[in-house]
Amino acid sequence: MYYIRHYIIENCKHHELKAVLEEKYNISCCVSTYPFSNTDNYKLIFDLPENHPDFEEILTIIPNIISNEEYNRLLEECIRTRTIMSEEITQIVLYIPVYSDEELYNAEWVSVRCANSKIEDDFNGYEKYYSDCKIWAEKQNSFAWCHRRLKREPFHINHVPKWRNKSFMSYLYSEAVLFCSARVKNILEKSDFAGIEFLPVYKKSGNEPLDDIYQLKSKFEIPNETIAVESDMDVIVCENCGMKKLAYKQTRGRYGILKNSISKDIDFYETSPMFLASSDEPFEAHHDLIISQRLYRFIKDNHMDTGLFFEVIEEL
Ligand SMILES: [Zn+2]
Repeated sequence: MYYIRHYIIENCKHHELKAVLEEKYNISCCVSTYPFSNTDNYKLIFDLPENHPDFEEILTIIPNIISNEEYNRLLEECIRTRTIMSEEITQIVLYIPVYSDEELYNAEWVSVRCANSKIEDDFNGYEKYYSDCKIWAEKQNSFAWCHRRLKREPFHINHVPKWRNKSFMSYLYSEAVLFCSARVKNILEKSDFAGIEFLPVYKKSGNEPLDDIYQLKSKFEIPNETIAVESDMDVIVCENCGMKKLAYKQTRGRYGILKNSISKDIDFYETSPMFLASSDEPFEAHHDLIISQRLYRFIKDNHMDTGLFFEVIEEL
């Protein structure tokens, strides 16, 4: 496993930096100019894999890297004073983990998310997400959910998506809420995977279930205490409800499952809603889906993985 760092350099002035990255190090760059700006500065955007043979050398030519928190503070200041970022600022916006097929095929457990976030329900969707615990969110100056749990109530959707070559789609507000077609439901049911429940999905303002879409729901939740940090995550315990939550550091972070803590006879698990984008914002934690090696292999071997992305979940 290695990370790809997704960089943005604000107000970049050095056209030669782009040339060096592209020509010497073979890193393709994307340039975004500022509207209504009369300077020739631009945003330089590029992906740097941490396993790049010249990684350390490249770091020395990239100017001032600041944290996302510091960036957000500067951005707020710019909005307040109606100015644009005046200094050359480099930010690592995202760390994208990349796993080899071998790593994924050797893992006991794999998390799955779906980038086809097409399923948009009517506004009852907000009611389907609930939590008993509301906390004060300083930044938003309002109360926010400590975590968000999806109710078992069925979705009511505005329109039925076209599946085309896709086997799965996800909910607009969560990549870890999966839907599949009737065809995929039949295939999965025949193979007898344990732990998956297929919930009907209804048309908005209708009581008849739709015939070509189902929500995949796990019958089993992984106990909160069996999930532990592997690297680069903060543990936060809610002052209000005592729930343990794990926050990503700059989007970089890995968690694992304590060895032998969950049954290997189950293929489809859901975690509790315990994952936060950052410890800066300790609210609205979401759940993850974790599947067995058997189910992962089945999805891959049957070419049902369009739009899905997987991460190895280690046993700790
Ligand atoms: Zn709470």
